[in-house]
Amino acid sequence: MEVFCFGSGSEGNAFLVRTQRTSILIDAGLAATTLRRLLRSIGVGDHELTAIVVTHEHHDHVRGLAGLLRWQSCPVVTTVGTDAVLRLGSARRLTVRYQHWLEIGDLALYPVPVPHDAREPFGLRLATCHAETALFTDLGTVTDEVLVALSRANLIVLEANHDRDLLWRGPYPDWLKRRIASPAGHLSNDQAAYALAHLSGSPRTIWLAHLSQQNNDPRLALATVRARFGSPCPHQLDVLPQAGMVYRWNFASSQYRLTRDSDQE
Ligand SMILES: [Zn+2]
Ligand SMILES: [Zn+2]
Repeated sequence: MEVFCFGSGSEGNAFLVRTQRTSILIDAGLAATTLRRLLRSIGVGDHELTAIVVTHEHHDHVRGLAGLLRWQSCPVVTTVGTDAVLRLGSARRLTVRYQHWLEIGDLALYPVPVPHDAREPFGLRLATCHAETALFTDLGTVTDEVLVALSRANLIVLEANHDRDLLWRGPYPDWLKRRIASPAGHLSNDQAAYALAHLSGSPRTIWLAHLSQQNNDPRLALATVRARFGSPCPHQLDVLPQAGMVYRWNFASSQYRLTRDSDQE
């Protein structure tokens, strides 16, 4: 299993999960032309995606979806609730249900409900026979189901959206601060650190995701999570950038590497 991050945060979210036979895009929050170019750069041409999964309807997850469907004829996979607000027209679709496995090619998807202010949002367990990835951004609370998903994953992508102090001292209007910090908003660094501190067993690769540009700082997010693990940190830990870099993780080597987006062209 290989996982690519094309972007993570309010500017747009998109991940690609690839096995030998299957290439699934998780969210299409970047511009369609950017997504097309990034997909091509890693060898996924037009009409070669197996599916596009949409975790929820917020703009930073669907911005390029309609445009991308001009070049990809695969089904859009989402919940009934999300499908109802996406207005996908005649696009092919597949619906998933919370906590029911769906097999697409040689990849299995397990949507886990997340508390977030969208219609029927979910995070994901993505599994092959050998490897598992947990992908959870856009959630205000870490539930027991999310902890179970994290505990099983070789690669963990978990939201660390904001530092509480930066958020409350920052310039956002009060209603927006309350929304972000609410149990159906976004995870703080402390919440992410607390959830990850539950991990036991073998070392994992952990990518902190969906960081706020205004209310967080990558060094602060890393330091907050590292402090929970103590020293030395048993896991390979990093922060995903908003854009401009492609992160690539490969289960076979359990390594990841970064490539500047401009290098991909
Ligand atoms: Zn988002
Ligand atoms: Zn959202």
